[in-house]
Amino acid sequence: MPQVNIRSWMDRAPSVVLGVTDLCRCALENDPRSSEMSSCPSETTPAQRAALASSSLRYYRSACCEARVAAVFVPTVPWPEKKPPERDAAEKKTLGKGVFRKCDGCGETLPSDAFAQNFEVCPQCGQHHKLGAAAWRQLLLDKGALDEWDAHLEPSDPLDFTDGKPYTERVLSAQKASRGREAIEIGRGHIEGRSVAWGAFVFAFMGGSMGSVVGEKIARLFEGAKTERLPVVLLQASGGARMQEGILSLMQMAKTVSALERLKDAGLPFVSVLLHPTTGGVAASFAFLGDVNIAELGALIGFAGPRVIEQTIRAKLPPGFQTSEFLLKHGMVDRVVSRLEMKREIAMILEHIAPRGDARHAPFKANGHAAT
Ligand SMILES: [Zn+2]
Repeated sequence: MPQVNIRSWMDRAPSVVLGVTDLCRCALENDPRSSEMSSCPSETTPAQRAALASSSLRYYRSACCEARVAAVFVPTVPWPEKKPPERDAAEKKTLGKGVFRKCDGCGETLPSDAFAQNFEVCPQCGQHHKLGAAAWRQLLLDKGALDEWDAHLEPSDPLDFTDGKPYTERVLSAQKASRGREAIEIGRGHIEGRSVAWGAFVFAFMGGSMGSVVGEKIARLFEGAKTERLPVVLLQASGGARMQEGILSLMQMAKTVSALERLKDAGLPFVSVLLHPTTGGVAASFAFLGDVNIAELGALIGFAGPRVIEQTIRAKLPPGFQTSEFLLKHGMVDRVVSRLEMKREIAMILEHIAPRGDARHAPFKANGHAAT
C-alpha cells in the first residue's frame, strides 16, 4: 500500500470515523491522525492479516516511535442496498415525456417533438429510432385506420411458468405498458387505396416475443388474407420465441409457415418488412419467407445476436454484421428502405405483384409470373 497522509485521506473520506484499538508504544501520540498509513506489517499473525483483509482494519505507523498501531475504520453511512429490477428490459418504458432527447446516431440533442413528427427518424442524421405499432399504423395505413381481427385473443399460462415472477404477472404488466393484449396486431387496412391484410409486431409487449397467441394470430392473418383474397404486409420486430411458453412457442414456427404456404398456394403475395430488431424464432421462420423482404435502414436482423455467434465460433465477425445493409449485400433481403419512404415502396411493390381489382383473375406466383 503506498504511503499516504492519513489526514488528507480522512478529509477525502468523510463517511469514515477512526477508532484506535491500540496506541503507539511511546504513548506520546494518542492522535493517530498525525501518523501515516503503512502496509500491513510483516510481524502480524495470520488472524490479524485475515482481519486486515476483511476491510475495516488498517495499520499505520506512528510518526513518534515507529510502533505499529491498528485502527478501525467504521463507515458512518451504510451503503444503500441494491434493488433488483422488477421488470424485464423489454418491458421498460419512459416515464413522463421529456422535452429534449439525444439522437443515438449523431448525439445531437433535439426537441422530442422533432423526433415524433418525423416518425422517430433523426432530422439531422437520419438515424432510425424504434417506432411503436400505433405510429407504424399512422405512417403506412391510409388514415391510420385498421379493422382489427381477433383482438380478443390473450395468452394463458399452460406451463405455470415462473422465472422470479409468474408469467401471468409479466403478461399483465406488459399489457399495461403496451396497452395491447398481445405482441402483435392483425387486421385489414389500406395502403394507397389498396386493401391489405396487415400485421405488426408490438415490440413494447415482452420484446415482441412469439408465444402461442402471436403464432395463432399470424396463422389467422395468412388464413384471413386467403379467404378475403388480400396481399399480406407484415411488420416484424421481435426478440424471437417466448421462453415462458417453452415448446409451445417453438411450435408456432411450424404452424405459421404452414399457414403461409397455403397463402402462397392460393397465389397471394406476402411482403415481409423487417424492422429493428428481427431475431430468433421469428427470423428463423416466416420473416425471411416474404415474396419480397424489405428491411428498414440500419436494423439488426439475424437469428442469434453477434456476441453469441462470436462466442460460439470463436471468431471476430465482420463490421456491420447482421445489419440490413450487410444482409442486402449478401442477398438475404431484397430492399433496404428508409422508414419515410416505406409507404411508397410497399405500394409500388404491391402495384407490381398484386394488381388492383379481383386478384382471382391474376393470382401471383412466387416466381414473379402471373399464373395462367
Ligand atoms: Zn441524429
